[in-house]
Formats: sequence, C-alpha cells, structure tokens
Amino acid sequence: MTKELRVKFWGVRGSYPTPGAGTIHFGGNTASVEVRAGERTIILDAGTGIIPLGRELARNKRAGEILLLLSHLHHDHTQGFPFFVPAYLPSAKLHIFGPDGTHESLKNVLERNQSSETFPVGLRDMASAKEIQSLRESQIVVWDERGVWVAESAAGPGLNRAEGLSEDAVVIRIHKSYAHPGGVYVYRITWRGKSVVYATDTEGYVGTDRKLVQFARDADLLIHDAQYSEEHYRGQLAGFPSTQGFGHSTVTMASEVAAAAEAERLVLFHHDPAYDDAMVAEMERTAQGLFAESFAAYEGMEFVLQVENKKATASAASHERAVQYAQNG
Ligand SMILES: [Zn+2]
Ligand SMILES: [Zn+2]
Repeated sequence: MTKELRVKFWGVRGSYPTPGAGTIHFGGNTASVEVRAGERTIILDAGTGIIPLGRELARNKRAGEILLLLSHLHHDHTQGFPFFVPAYLPSAKLHIFGPDGTHESLKNVLERNQSSETFPVGLRDMASAKEIQSLRESQIVVWDERGVWVAESAAGPGLNRAEGLSEDAVVIRIHKSYAHPGGVYVYRITWRGKSVVYATDTEGYVGTDRKLVQFARDADLLIHDAQYSEEHYRGQLAGFPSTQGFGHSTVTMASEVAAAAEAERLVLFHHDPAYDDAMVAEMERTAQGLFAESFAAYEGMEFVLQVENKKATASAASHERAVQYAQNG
C-alpha cells in the first residue's frame, strides 16, 4: 500500500477561468486540488480544474469512492462539477460535503446550479451515488476502514488517539473563516502525521489572522489565497481599483500566516484572473523573500509527502529529502 500523501493542483485560478497564451504556465482553470492519502481520493473544490481531474480518475479506474470538500459555494469553486465524469458513473460513490449557502442548503444550491433552465442534466440525473451533507465547523470528517463519516469534534485535536481511530484514518478538521463574503471553510487534512491546510478565499488581517495561524500550526503544506499584489490591493496598480474587503489576500498576508504558523511550505493559490504568468512569477519571488519555502501553484504541480513509518522511525533529514517538488511535473 502506498504510504504517501500526494497533493496535486488541477485548478489554481480565482474568480473565472482564464485560458490563453498569457496563462499557459500557471494555468487558467478555477480552484480544484486533489489530495491522495494512500489509495483514498479527496478533492478540494470543484472549479473547472475538477474537469480534467475527473477524466483522469475515470481513465485510471480511480473513480470509486471520492470525498469532495467544498470551501464555499461561489461559482469558481463549483462550476466544474456538472462536467465531473465520475458523477455520471453508476459505479462511483461521491461524498459531497461543505457549508450551506447563506440562504439555502448545500444540496439546494448544487441542485439549482443544474436546474433545467441553466444546464441539460439535473444533479439527480447524474448516475453516481451521492451523499450530500452540510458540515458544521464543530464537526470532523473521518475516512477510515468504516468509510467516510462525520463526528462531533468534542474530542479536539486528540481525536486520533481519544476515539481510538486507526493509524490509517484520514481526519479532516474545519475552521470557518469570516474573512470572505458569506464565509468560507478552511480544511485541515491529516493522515499518518502529515497535514495539508487549504485556506482559499480568505483576506488577511492586520497582525495576521490569529485563528487561522492557530489552525494551520505546523502544517506540512499550507495552501493560502494570494490573489493580489500589494499594489493592486491598495489601489496603486494602474487600471485596477483597490480590492480591500473583497475577501482575498496579498502575497504578504499569505507569507505572514505561513511564517507565524511555522508551516513547512506555502503554496500561493487563487491567482487573479487578470494576472499573466509574468505577474504570478513576480509574486512568487516576492513571497520567497518573505517565506523561503513559497511556491506559486500551477496546474500539474504536485507535492509528495512521505508519511511516517511507525516501524522504522525515519529521521527528520530523510523526511526532508522525501518531499519532492516536481517542477513542471
Ligand atoms: Zn474563489
Ligand atoms: Zn469566493
């Protein structure tokens, strides 16, 4: 059995898809990230990046049981779902979890996204088995030998031991951020001692978002919104009004959270649709000046985190070497 936690980026763009010559390197698909904990597939958000991911899962016969976690229900995080191939396969079983909308349940919003007025195939007409469940911040999602299930988080961070979960259990915690219109869920996925935190669509606070810093503490990989350059955010970029209060961060905000949380690595995510490859590359350099292990997400980028082997305790140094950053992978 594979003992790797793999994180692969399929859609890294914010707001709307941006195909074209200027975005070839970083990519133009909206938010979708694949996390593989051994043989289990977890998908973060269903922007248009989930479309090529769905094709690959079907092609490689990995479209069995899939857990899809939605950060929130804005278009750029859901618009790929109607084209997600596994959703059409009778053999597939999808657990679709996320927050409710501000006025409607998660299920209603997804159904409305595929109403007959706007899309030819309704959610119910897609052949896969679907479990759609609204999550509360106080809950924890577990995927172990019993399958995917939701528990109350009363046991706190010690759940792994306290509840007698197996070593192989994937545990997902939720932090609700109010730093985005309508709110957004930040997820922390932990498996065999490795953690990935997904904090998209969130705006930084003066002196950093302390709750987020706490939640992301010691993460092996922190994926953080970094939509804007400092100049753009402040309204000093020619042709771009200030974006303060829009619910997205600057590179500096993302770097400050990564440093304060003592994360191993920072991935800049949710690139502004108006930015071309040169601008995103420039932001990556800025981030690296503030937090050395910073990477601007691009389509196809993959991190492989070697998980702890309990029998032969690996040294910190070999852990470090085991992490591969696949350039243009
Ligand atoms: Zn977004
Ligand atoms: Zn949003």
